[in-house]
Amino acid sequence: MSDCIFCKIIKGELPAEKVFEDDKVLAFLDIHPVTKGHTLLVPKEHYPDLISTPKEVVAEVVSYVPQIAGGLIKGLGATGLNLGSNNGRAAGQIIFHLHFHLIPRYTDDGLRMWGSRDYQAGEIEEIAEKIRNSFH
Ligand code: 5GP
Ligand code: ZN
Repeated sequence: MSDCIFCKIIKGELPAEKVFEDDKVLAFLDIHPVTKGHTLLVPKEHYPDLISTPKEVVAEVVSYVPQIAGGLIKGLGATGLNLGSNNGRAAGQIIFHLHFHLIPRYTDDGLRMWGSRDYQAGEIEEIAEKIRNSFH
């Protein structure tokens, strides 16, 4: 994809702080970090998002998470990790090249990742049924 920022980073046409690279994936630092060391893990092949990517490719990319997370823990003294993937504009996706956010967490860093809500009575069962029905 010629106009994709992450493809340009992969090809070396745009600069990035690369932290891990092999023939399949690249990991580099997010320029607007949620915490210090916030890393983006991308496949070298262009896929727009998680939903449109073959599961073998997803599995391969995700298989690198433990190694890179280990680097964040060992290299930066992180004591935890949030793994994230924004898919679609409604989910806040800005760059349409599949990527995972590896957000190192530090003891008492004060970051709160998820807001949670409550279901109305009967709603949780109704929603689960709709999802289950979508598979057949
Ligand atoms: P998402 O698409 O999941 O919302 O997030 C894309 C992420 O890419 C953002 O966190 C943003 O800060 C990061 N980003 C956008 N452009 C660049 C860039 O040119 N270089 C780097 N290193 N990160 C970028
Ligand atoms: Zn791309």
